[in-house]
Amino acid sequence: MSRYDVVIVGTGHGGAQAAIALRQQGFEGSIQMIGRDPSPPYERPPLSKEYLAGEKPFERLLIRPVQFWADKQIGLTLGESVTRIDPEARELHLASGEQVGYVRLIWSGGGDARRLSCPGSHLDGLHAVRDRRDVDRLLEDLQAGIRNFVVVGGGYIGLEAASVLRKLGCSVTVVETQDRLLSRVAGEDLSNFFAEEHQRQGVALRLGAQVERLEGESRVEGVTLASGETIACDAVVAGIGIVPSVGPLIAAGAAGANGVDVSDTCHTSLEKVYAIGDCAAHANPYANGAVVRLESVQNAHDMANTVAKAICGDPQPYDAMPWFWSNQYDLRLQTAGLSIGHDATVLRGDPAERSFSVIYLRDGIVIAVDAVNRTKDYAQGGKLVKARAEVSPELLADTDVPLKEMR
Ligand code: ADP
Repeated sequence: MSRYDVVIVGTGHGGAQAAIALRQQGFEGSIQMIGRDPSPPYERPPLSKEYLAGEKPFERLLIRPVQFWADKQIGLTLGESVTRIDPEARELHLASGEQVGYVRLIWSGGGDARRLSCPGSHLDGLHAVRDRRDVDRLLEDLQAGIRNFVVVGGGYIGLEAASVLRKLGCSVTVVETQDRLLSRVAGEDLSNFFAEEHQRQGVALRLGAQVERLEGESRVEGVTLASGETIACDAVVAGIGIVPSVGPLIAAGAAGANGVDVSDTCHTSLEKVYAIGDCAAHANPYANGAVVRLESVQNAHDMANTVAKAICGDPQPYDAMPWFWSNQYDLRLQTAGLSIGHDATVLRGDPAERSFSVIYLRDGIVIAVDAVNRTKDYAQGGKLVKARAEVSPELLADTDVPLKEMR
């Protein structure tokens, strides 16, 4: 059995960046990455955007050229899962039956696409959009001429997929259980704007709708809602969130409920075991004291840097400002900060002009900005969020004054 100074589980943004940052920090020990995904580390956000649209080939998604990992002496074990952790022996058991020892473990397991569990969810033609293989299967359907889609879930993933599918000339119905789109991540102004936009682009919406079952023999032919309506389709895309991939950590005794709990240096409750990215529940300084999991490239990347510093003997608390983005049609939504606990919102600009921002306040302090086609507001608003600036709603709404002049 080999033992490595650092084993990184997960080859997504967090895992890849942890390895890169360790080498950048001058870490000279052995590093071994282990990931279930058979492809070398690649960017995930384009999967529901340019990759699905056929505008970017897979090679352009690679986080580093394949040779980079060998050059930096970072071992890659791909297509392999960790099934069990022995925290006393500091060993990992792999699905292949092999065992791997670690001195330090960085768990960057991300999450698995949440699956529909209703009757019919075993049928062919039901797709997730989480990793490259999911999207390749969806692309095969498109290449085979499939054009009638139901998208289940009106979050970023579902709506980005809907917008690409519309661009490709497909018919699309979005089914969302909540009574508005983007309910997990955005306020009502934004939800309403995106609902109108999708409808304008020809997407049919079913809000406040429950999926009862998928119809079909071997392949999906329709989606029946609790209302009794059946929407005929040839394929379904489910974008209904993720389930954090932390099973072996929790089974090994790590604290956690929604994901795995980590400290401000991303340490879990298990000795020498860190966790980062989508699966890491942490007290984010921008979350008003709440423990959150953030599903974003920024969070994975910055937590990876935090862990690399801690391992290299320079521990610094994680305090990066959260940011997110989504592309739908010609709209670029950029978010800085977290709107958790906001008690007021300010609309800046005119949604009808397709360029506006929503600014979220708590106790008069700017805590988040959602900017639609307004990159300056995003960049400058992010600085207000970082500065915990107190600005009057009237001033924030005044588009004649740049946000950078409000500090
Ligand atoms: P993602 O990153 O996959 O977009 P989100 O959690 O942001 O994840 O969005 C998922 C959306 O899917 C949420 O708005 C949620 O209300 C919706 N949703 C979850 N389960 C179902 C379901 N069974 N049917 C329809 N919508 C669902």
